[in-house]
Amino acid sequence: AYETGGERQYYLPILPIHKCKDKLLQTAREHPFFVVTGETGSGKTTQLPQYLYKAGFGKHGIIGVTQPRRVATITVAQRVAEEMDCSLGSTVGYQVRFDDCTSQKTAIMYMTDGCLLRHTLTDPNLTKFSTIVLDEAHERSLSTDILFGLLRKQFLMKCTSKRKYPLKVIVMSATLDTERLSEFFGSCPVCVIPGKVFPIKERFHNLIGPRDKDNSAYVTETVKVTLQTHLNESAGDILVFLTGQSEIEKACDVLYNKAEMIDYRHDVFDSSVDGLLILPLYGSMATDQQKRIFLPPPKGIRKCVVATNIAATSVTIEGIRYVIDSGFVKQLNHNPRAGLDVLEIVPISKSEAVQRAGRAGRTASGKCHRIYSEEFWEKCMPDHMIPEIKRTSLTSVILTLKCLEVNDVIRFPYLDAPEERFILEALRKLYQCSAIDRGGNVTDLGRFIIEFPLSPNLACALIKATSLGCEDLLLPVAAMLSVEHVFIQSGITQKQKEVEESHKTLSEMAGGDNDFATLFSIFEQCKSSDNPVLWCRKHAVHWRAVKSAFSVEKQLRDITNKLKQLKNFPVEKSDIPKNELLQRCLCAGFFSNVARRSVGRTFCTMDGNGSMVHIHPSSALFGQEASLEWILFHNVLVTSKIFVRTVCPIRYEWVKDLLPKLHDVDAYELSSVARE
Ligand code: ADP
Ligand code: MG
Repeated sequence: AYETGGERQYYLPILPIHKCKDKLLQTAREHPFFVVTGETGSGKTTQLPQYLYKAGFGKHGIIGVTQPRRVATITVAQRVAEEMDCSLGSTVGYQVRFDDCTSQKTAIMYMTDGCLLRHTLTDPNLTKFSTIVLDEAHERSLSTDILFGLLRKQFLMKCTSKRKYPLKVIVMSATLDTERLSEFFGSCPVCVIPGKVFPIKERFHNLIGPRDKDNSAYVTETVKVTLQTHLNESAGDILVFLTGQSEIEKACDVLYNKAEMIDYRHDVFDSSVDGLLILPLYGSMATDQQKRIFLPPPKGIRKCVVATNIAATSVTIEGIRYVIDSGFVKQLNHNPRAGLDVLEIVPISKSEAVQRAGRAGRTASGKCHRIYSEEFWEKCMPDHMIPEIKRTSLTSVILTLKCLEVNDVIRFPYLDAPEERFILEALRKLYQCSAIDRGGNVTDLGRFIIEFPLSPNLACALIKATSLGCEDLLLPVAAMLSVEHVFIQSGITQKQKEVEESHKTLSEMAGGDNDFATLFSIFEQCKSSDNPVLWCRKHAVHWRAVKSAFSVEKQLRDITNKLKQLKNFPVEKSDIPKNELLQRCLCAGFFSNVARRSVGRTFCTMDGNGSMVHIHPSSALFGQEASLEWILFHNVLVTSKIFVRTVCPIRYEWVKDLLPKLHDVDAYELSSVARE
């Protein structure tokens, strides 16, 4: 069932939301807050903002729509711009971290929830906006949860002072579990978009069981089931759920190069994978590549999209009849063992598994192949996903709240309150980098830190460099640390030896013992190269990552320049030797990530956890442990051991005066405001 889209070239499907248009608009007119729920693909994200715009809700300000994911934000904005027949950045625009595609004309603005949270800092009453749509509420991302609390306050105060018209707030969710949401917003109305779902046959393949919870066999097993599906099932596209970029690239590599799959050649693979169009879909992909996943495949060809969780609810791909569920997801979790946030591969929840399966029954009946066993389902998969606010570090968010003059961060109206110890830990971290004082109040430095869309540690290092007048050294490093996947990983198309050699050459060019300096050197060499694309290929570096680092560096530079103009911005004179400057600035921000060598190749962290860590094999310092005493690291990877990545050697004198700050205050003291 399709209707033609006016004089345009393509067709708009008839969506479940169309029948609810009048009801939705009426609710929007009568209520300042309401909740909308409907199956994924019913048209919430792409249609509702257009309805509101056409009904005049954009007259008194922008209609802002948030998304937890960067890619979804951009894809959806592109789609809506197309549907409205305007160029992206005009009537319809988007804003994500480091990428602003809006203009004076923008009336519908898609943005990440993090972006809207940043808007509240400069404009707490969100006067630029007439309407805020908090989309994908079921994902319970950290920023969306905080926005719930902040907007609820607006609702309770009716917020008349700074606004001519009350803000309209619409919360949209793909799951029907909306009672709590409605209650949270003063028992506001809930609009349900009735949808039709076709029956889905589900099958457990028993390839992964409870004992495989921690190994990476699931990638190969997922590929195997994908191939079986392609060879045995009738027409219809396939959607494969995997965990992240590297796993997806690995799976696609195997799918492309069936010849390399020795194990399977006798198995599923005597015939060929002819007729399979393999398309990856993950967060840091180029946008023009993303567009391809929506196009129907050529006649006689089966489309196979290999995606992260983004395809579960954020974007809908038409024509999917088979879902292959790996059972895992990559999640940012706070790891108490490492004292840091760590990306971990964990089993998905049962409700996520149901969402994934649902993608197979959008337009016709479908099938969901689960690679795991029923025992795995029972024993390893929780009923629901734990909201991000309960499992990640709250440092940036607590600083944001403090800057918004929410002093009592413990009794803030959280939909799900994080554990108090997580809040205390965030306060301690903020105190350590001097973003708040002993009384729990934001300092000048804290207000500088919040200007940067960076982690407080990195922002702190950058501010130190700016004070010392050597920001040219830190800006490229900060930019390179902010983009994902700089180094090409070896796969089947890229031989491991060659990749390792190239990366070794890179670190040697930068001195051979400092991963931060390597990042700096890649940035600078690419910048001055006549042919940076070729340079990157030669050195096994992703050109797209470096290219975005160029743009990030420019934006961070604008912020440092702005700060330098401020009267209260500190300027320091120093006699630090030039070759120490980079490490010394990093120490200012990352002294909580310092470790001292203990026995053999292990190092002991200084943050009070005293975790034993190892240098990751990707570091230039791997293998040189015996010659090191003190190191500073940027991040952590937890497998069977704790690995630190992006490392440099430091001297004890550089952190001697800073380290006591890690222990000299009781976190409860910092929350005194809350305890009174
Ligand atoms: P919901 O938000 O309710 O999950 P959406 O508004 O995202 O639904 O999607 C509605 C319809 O628009 C879906 O059928 C989907 O296939 C289509 N659609 C969304 N984005 C795109 C895109 N970028 N290209 C093609 N079709 C799209
Ligand atoms: Mg949506």
